[in-house]
Amino acid sequence: STFADLGLAEWAVQACKELGMRRPTPVQHHCIPRILAGDDVLGLAQTGSGKTAAFALPILHRLAEDPFGVFALVVTPTRELAYQLAEQFRALGSCLHLRCAVVVGGMDMINQAQTLMQRPHVVIATPGRVKVLLEQNPDIPAVFARTKFLVLDEADRVLDVGFEEELRVVFQCLPKNRQTLLFSATMTSDLQTLLELSSNKAYFYEA
Ligand code: AMP
Repeated sequence: STFADLGLAEWAVQACKELGMRRPTPVQHHCIPRILAGDDVLGLAQTGSGKTAAFALPILHRLAEDPFGVFALVVTPTRELAYQLAEQFRALGSCLHLRCAVVVGGMDMINQAQTLMQRPHVVIATPGRVKVLLEQNPDIPAVFARTKFLVLDEADRVLDVGFEEELRVVFQCLPKNRQTLLFSATMTSDLQTLLELSSNKAYFYEA
């Protein structure tokens, strides 16, 4: 198949081409149409499988149709991964005037709160920092009140480090009618619990 066959807008197909992405990878082929259709997705896929674009492309496609912020919250276990995710979102969304914010530990929290108050379209965060921001600043939960997508990237690692409490706080601040997208290298019992906590029924993709 091609990226156009998956239902993505022409600008997104063009962005893939310009980034040297000629054909969808298996995780993209299976997950992009389901995400565009509104389903929750649990994708078991390794780093290098193209999983980032598998969620970034359909999120950007939907954002371009009806932009308002904060549209998507992406939670990932480490700062380095957060910056890498932001880079891919910015590259794929370069023609969209995308506002993408990274919210991780080690950076000034007052600045981060101000950035969030400006309602970036995509927020990429580590679990600890987003929890503290949600709990300590009474204005921040409202920022996420209309969020359409929650993504847990490397969900097995997020849970491995014991971030259940942080995730619970995040889940409480997001609307129930959002889409939840979980990507993980492995299936774990924690992930099963998380799935029950976070979503109704999910399309399950396994590489
Ligand atoms: P990820 O698995 O998301 O960490 O992606 C690994 C790398 O593969 C990234 O540098 C992407 O730019 C690249 N990539 C993603 N999708 C494709 C594709 N369909 N064709 C070629 N490269 C891709």
